[in-house]
Amino acid sequence: MSFNSKAFVSKLPEVQTTIFTIMGQLANEHNAINLSQGFPDFDSDPKLRELVSQAMNTGQNQYAPMQGTMALRESLAEKFDTLYSTSYHPNTEITVTAGATQAIFTIISTFINKDDEVLIFKPAYDCYEPAIELMKGNVVSVQLDGPHFNVDWSRVQQLINSKTKMIIINTPHNPSGTTWSKNDMLQLEALVKDTNIIVLSDEVYEHIIFDEQQHQSACLFPGLKERSFICASFGKTFHNTGWKMGYCVAPAELMHEFRKVHQFNVFCVNHPMQVAFASHLKNPDNYQYINTFYQEKRDFFLNAIKGSRFKYIPSSGTYFQLLDYSAITDENDLDFSKRLVTQYQLASIPISVFNEAGHKDSFLRFCFAKKKETLEKAAEILCKI
Ligand code: PMP
Ligand code: GLN
Repeated sequence: MSFNSKAFVSKLPEVQTTIFTIMGQLANEHNAINLSQGFPDFDSDPKLRELVSQAMNTGQNQYAPMQGTMALRESLAEKFDTLYSTSYHPNTEITVTAGATQAIFTIISTFINKDDEVLIFKPAYDCYEPAIELMKGNVVSVQLDGPHFNVDWSRVQQLINSKTKMIIINTPHNPSGTTWSKNDMLQLEALVKDTNIIVLSDEVYEHIIFDEQQHQSACLFPGLKERSFICASFGKTFHNTGWKMGYCVAPAELMHEFRKVHQFNVFCVNHPMQVAFASHLKNPDNYQYINTFYQEKRDFFLNAIKGSRFKYIPSSGTYFQLLDYSAITDENDLDFSKRLVTQYQLASIPISVFNEAGHKDSFLRFCFAKKKETLEKAAEILCKI
């Protein structure tokens, strides 16, 4: 009998190729300006690239320690102390990962068992749900409505029960570009008090927050910190998404369990990059400028599309801007975003893929982590539509 490649049952029958891949390919085929997938079209700091080359040229090319190099974990501990006046022990509470994506997958696979409920807020970044499904957990969704995407905390309270194992949060938020206030975090802290709920706090955009706001990290709230994994991505902060480097922090008992899976998931991650980040992070000037840097890009882009028919509320964090196209067409967002690429050569992300099935809205997401020239060209197109 020969192998029947159709004999298996898919573990993710509903999952299709990600929208980032689909829109990226479409953008290439149509030679479009690509404001879809979130990545900068400018390069990472030459000093940082030089540090990576140095590490490679001085023989740091073999496996790194499983948890990450001690120097990098120490730099990260220092960063938490400087920014949030809180401590994470480099030995037991910090692990370097292959991007935030691996941290998130490993956290979910470490803790989620069959029938555990995981509460997520929609629109939700697309890597949470498939990981929960793979572990046979149940996704419980709280759909938020644009343009403000505020959380109704009494609704969240109604959804929490004895099966709730984890709550996944994300501020600054992809794709809406909104941020949670201190009050949101206090509400969450009050709701999980007296429960064993683990919080996965996706904070990959912690350094991209605008208009003098403070990032509300889960580590600032004792009742959250004691139960939270905080996930972060060097790719967002240092303009090198292709390096796929990130980390997570959590109290020692949670991290101990995480590492049991991490060591067989990747064992360890890119060594030369870790050496470089360890020294680059020591100077906060290397990342603290990026709020202003991206705020200028946001303002430049919004100013350039002022004359268009798109409506918006300025993004308050991340490098994404939602534009409401309801004054232009009643097409659904997938159709409209495809037409934008094919007819106007401009690629964006339709956010319905991050929503509950059937939820209707009229937003497209545009990435403004781009050079001025790119934003100018995109704005010119948007003003013609
Ligand atoms: N979470 C969110 C909200 C993201 O936007 C991204 C990627 N852009 C990730 C996680 C994954 O980060 P990484 O590229 O470091 O895996
Ligand atoms: N996080 C990036 C975005 O939201 C995409 C990363 C990916 O392609 N998985 O655009």
